[in-house]
Amino acid sequence: MRPGRLIALVALAAVLLAAGCGSGDGTVDRRFLLIGLDGAEWSVVEPLIEQGRLPNIAALMESGVSCKLRSLEPKQKSPVIWTTIGTGKMPAKHSISDYVDPTSKQLLTSNVRTARMFWDILGEHGFTVTVIGWLVSWPAEPVNGTMVTDYFRYRPREDRRTDGLTYPDELVEEVSPLRVLSENIPDEEIEGFYDLSNAMTGEEAQRLDVDRMFVEMRAINELEGHISQLRDHYAGDATFMAVARHLMQRRPTDVSVVYLRGTDSMSHRFWPASFPEEVQVDVPETETRVFGETMERYYEHADVMVGELIEEFGDDATVMLCSDHGFEGPRPGRRRGGINDHGPIGVFVLKGDGVRSGVTIAEHSVRDITPTILALFGLPVGDDMDGEVMRDAFADDFLRAHPVQVIATYEPAEEPGVIR
Ligand SMILES: [Zn+2]
Repeated sequence: MRPGRLIALVALAAVLLAAGCGSGDGTVDRRFLLIGLDGAEWSVVEPLIEQGRLPNIAALMESGVSCKLRSLEPKQKSPVIWTTIGTGKMPAKHSISDYVDPTSKQLLTSNVRTARMFWDILGEHGFTVTVIGWLVSWPAEPVNGTMVTDYFRYRPREDRRTDGLTYPDELVEEVSPLRVLSENIPDEEIEGFYDLSNAMTGEEAQRLDVDRMFVEMRAINELEGHISQLRDHYAGDATFMAVARHLMQRRPTDVSVVYLRGTDSMSHRFWPASFPEEVQVDVPETETRVFGETMERYYEHADVMVGELIEEFGDDATVMLCSDHGFEGPRPGRRRGGINDHGPIGVFVLKGDGVRSGVTIAEHSVRDITPTILALFGLPVGDDMDGEVMRDAFADDFLRAHPVQVIATYEPAEEPGVIR
């Protein structure tokens, strides 16, 4: 071979390597970690970052891109939004409209879904995947790897179905010892989230006028209930963290997807104590004294979990962090609780090879996540998806090497008489 040609070939190989090309079929070899933090809200995250209290999320933002992530409108419940996140499709196409079917009152389950999840598509292209805790993932579906479904975290009971908790089925025996039950969490592990010693005493309450006294006395009685709920939310995330660590160590895959619910649950319960001036509800003083910092401290805990997942998975990986919606708390003129407390804008952060670094990009939608994941892997977007690739997240040379492509659909052709 003439030296000139050899140099040209070496140069081409260098270009291909720099672009992160995969095994010749146009796909991009990368390891990818998606962390879902339910209900994570920028107006909570940003001040905590300024105070240096979320170092892992801050580092992700510095080395990657971040943006406001618009949730579905009108507001939808979390399973609906997470299914849109995982399919790139609106609820009319994916058929998950709630936790339960509005007419039959039956639990909506993974087999009701009428659109494929991004991890199915990645699996089909040879990438191995791990999926942990994702809403409406029960019963577990076959994947090119392992799945531990959302219902895995609950204590096994005789009146509760225990099949389909994991894929493969027998994985359940391996991971069940990792399930964290709330009664097994020692006080020391959670008491840093609240300040019980600040609680108003009965004596103090009795010095208030009668109306206030009743409000505070009731709040004092409710403290234990709040703490037991906190313990339960904490146990849920602890369970999926333990499973994630275990699977990353024992059954490493190219892709890992971990859903954590605690940020949303803690916000529902403790937002009023964090922002007593802003909410429409009357917040007892004892609640603000004990739980005034609980939600922020849980965000710090979430940041620690994010750091642990990244470290365990490998910090050279591509990492995406997102929430399904933001949070506003009970607002004047609105009913309290459930999706009424949710905010319209969630959190999105992405860092990795081919992704720009240290920039805030334009607002995007929860619908755009699956198309963007496919683009990260050099795979085409389905024309029947409702979202778009977040092009401004990518470095120009990556998009030049891997232009966004479109195929009609990833859905299987309809077979008459067969319901998926
Ligand atoms: Zn919620």
